[in-house]
Amino acid sequence: MRVPYSYLADQFGDPEPILEAVRTTLLKHHQYTFGPELEEFEARMARYTGARYCLGTASGTAALSMLLKAAGVGPGDEVVTVSQTFIATIGSIAAVGARPFYVDVLDDFTMDPSLLEEAITERTKAVMPVWYSGAPPRMEEIMAVAERRSLPVIEDSCCAISAKIGGKHAGTFGIGGAFSVHPLKNLNVWGDGGFIVTDSEEIYNKVLLLRNHGLKERDEVEVYGYNARLDTIQAIVGNYLYPQIDEITDRRIANAKFFDEAFSAPPLSEFITVPPRREGARHVYHMYMVLASDRDRLLQHLIDAGVEAKVHYPIPNHLQKASLEQDPSFGRTALSRTESQCRSLISLPVHQHLSRRQLEYVVETVKGFFARI
Ligand SMILES: *Cc1c(COP(=O)(O)O)cnc(C)c1O
Repeated sequence: MRVPYSYLADQFGDPEPILEAVRTTLLKHHQYTFGPELEEFEARMARYTGARYCLGTASGTAALSMLLKAAGVGPGDEVVTVSQTFIATIGSIAAVGARPFYVDVLDDFTMDPSLLEEAITERTKAVMPVWYSGAPPRMEEIMAVAERRSLPVIEDSCCAISAKIGGKHAGTFGIGGAFSVHPLKNLNVWGDGGFIVTDSEEIYNKVLLLRNHGLKERDEVEVYGYNARLDTIQAIVGNYLYPQIDEITDRRIANAKFFDEAFSAPPLSEFITVPPRREGARHVYHMYMVLASDRDRLLQHLIDAGVEAKVHYPIPNHLQKASLEQDPSFGRTALSRTESQCRSLISLPVHQHLSRRQLEYVVETVKGFFARI
């Protein structure tokens, strides 16, 4: 049996409704940027997340960079974040000329709020927690420290559409949240794309300028910005998928629950560690990550058996060449949990198109591996 990691061929197996939407809108009005469908998408995402404002962006990374810039972060500044994340978190900080200051993570791969206070110096200009894998960070505690130190919080909620703590959506705790609609995120379009959400009129107005070259009017440049808008065609795909967000997410959550139960019970509980799952929060499983003994051999065993497991990622950001070359002392803070997680974490396919039989096959294959040792 094959258990693929990607689901795009299934998801977009029948592209006709989307192509039809493109024909009847984009190919009628020809507004390839800033078309009415972009505004529609933004209004929908603001309503969905409960934020006052939403702006479509060229990518999740561009969304993060523009939020940082809008919050006044620039050259020489430090942003406290985590190393246990996708490179784009760190790249967005570097892109505005600032530097990441890494703190370690909890067992659920999110920022350890107890380390935040001591990581803050006079150079710190923002805090950037990550909803990594779609897991909710300790936002209440992070916000409390940041508020005490008068620091803006920018959420990397790029892979956490529909994630919540209580009833409050990812991206709505700090001054701004960034989302990605890259093809492999839970709400996905046909290329790169993203959006920001914010309740702050000031941040909204700044990102509005920044994503369009800093142009106030056609002929007047207020600040230097980027070309980082969300294309109308991607907004059309986003609008088409919008009604499916909850259903897609619920399927992924149910699949994750199936794995959690199988891996938390003997005999697998001896070899697999399921991260703690937070009560009252909605973890959306953009990735399903657990810690496994003998990870590298398990990974190969799964791949040989047709289960497309992956590792996100074997080398943490602070030990990457780009980080070490820039400032070696910066990669050397105590990040023991991050480093040990990277040695044993593994991601299993969890997407909405998996059948019950495929989920069972994944568990059987993992069992088969550990039965031999
Ligand atoms: C995907 C992702 C990003 C970047 O989003 P892009 O749209 O690919 O630029 C940033 N941070 C995290 C945690 C992500 O998962």
